[in-house]
Amino acid sequence: MPELQLTDLISSLPADAISTDADQLQRYSTDLGPVVDLQLPAVVVWPGTIEEVQTVLGWAYRTGTVVVTRGAGTGVSGGAHATAGCIVLSLERMNRILDIRPDDELAVVEPGVVNADLNAAVAEYGFMYAPDPASYRISTIGGNIATNAGGLRCAKYGVTREAILALEVVLADGTLIHTGHQTFKGVAGYDLTGLIVGSEGTLGVVVGATVRLKYLPDEVHTLAAFFPDFRIAAAGVLAVGKARIQPAIMELLDAATMSELDRQFGSSLSDRGTALLLIQTDGFGAAAEAEEIRRVLSCLGSTISTENAAEAEKLVELRRNSRGMEKPEEYRVGEDVAVPRSQLVLYVAELERMAAEHGVSLRSPAVMPARSPTPSPLRSRKERG
Ligand SMILES: Cc1cc2nc3c(=O)[nH]c(=O)nc-3n(C[C@H](O)[C@H](O)[C@H](O)COP(=O)(O)OP(=O)(O)OC[C@H]3O[C@@H](n4cnc5c(N)ncnc54)[C@H](O)[C@@H]3O)c2cc1C
Repeated sequence: MPELQLTDLISSLPADAISTDADQLQRYSTDLGPVVDLQLPAVVVWPGTIEEVQTVLGWAYRTGTVVVTRGAGTGVSGGAHATAGCIVLSLERMNRILDIRPDDELAVVEPGVVNADLNAAVAEYGFMYAPDPASYRISTIGGNIATNAGGLRCAKYGVTREAILALEVVLADGTLIHTGHQTFKGVAGYDLTGLIVGSEGTLGVVVGATVRLKYLPDEVHTLAAFFPDFRIAAAGVLAVGKARIQPAIMELLDAATMSELDRQFGSSLSDRGTALLLIQTDGFGAAAEAEEIRRVLSCLGSTISTENAAEAEKLVELRRNSRGMEKPEEYRVGEDVAVPRSQLVLYVAELERMAAEHGVSLRSPAVMPARSPTPSPLRSRKERG
């Protein structure tokens, strides 16, 4: 990057919004993904306004400099890793919740708002922001949008794309565009909002978002269904679907994951079975749905306990933490695999067979049944939850 031009950029931003300090360059050079070839940025910028983002991108466009956008840097696939001599554009200071509109069931936020902070703020109005990646306490809404993050609640409430109504985006040349609508129904025209969600910073920098809120359910029931066999537990997922119930959370944990969690967190899951199906129903029908699930899964030989709120929260948290992060990254591969619901048991059986054949230890896939069977073939995205 030519020195003179960098000076131009530095002089066009507030002094505390830009740094070439070696420690900062190092600190902002990687996210939580594996580092194969560490490369350092030339500069880190922390814009506080949309105009400052436009200044940075406009300057980068004119000088042909690469920009790597960054939220909280919790991504696990290296999307926010710096390239040599780039600008790391950290949105962490643009972290204001600009508006909460309970009657319209939406909120307007800057991209650096941490997911958990938004949830805490809207909870005061009786709402939640549904997408809850396991990193929700530390990751930003901008990063969640860029990765179309999912989470435990996505079985019922959908992934990030379904929670975003409108976006403000700065394009590569510094132009600001507005996409989407402030209403749930907005069907005219191209779906640019949907296109930008999940584009991992390749189409522009998200500088504002209008997000859809959901009412916090009055009632929540959590069931822990323990099975003697992982495949039967996987069949339980299908059985719940056939019973026409859409749980808010449905997660499947295998024996290896359960014993790892026991080892790490002092729980005693392994004493209760070989596989665990953790199911949460919510809303006015929660109790009736839980009862029906209990009936259906009992027929498959499951031992089921209804968890009190504290125990349920503990189990859900344990599930969020079961990403196999205890293994050194050079020995760990995380995959997010989607299969048609009808193939779930087959998938589990084949996975186990391949693991045994190649001597690989498995941590259970997070099994969240798609809300409708997907006709797509097996697809995989690296390391999403
Ligand atoms: C413990 C753990 C659990 C996780 N669990 C889940 C999970 O359950 N589900 C799931 O989907 N993911 C999960 N993830 C990965 C997930 O992608 C990130 O945690 C999160 O969505 C990224 O947010 P971030 O603010 O840290 O973004 P970063 O990591 O900083 O960036 C992620 C990507 O988004 C781009 N980006 C960031 N902000 C913007 C912006 N404003 N505009 C344009 N592009 C931008 C970056 O360039 C990068 O490509 C998990 C990660 C960890 C470490």
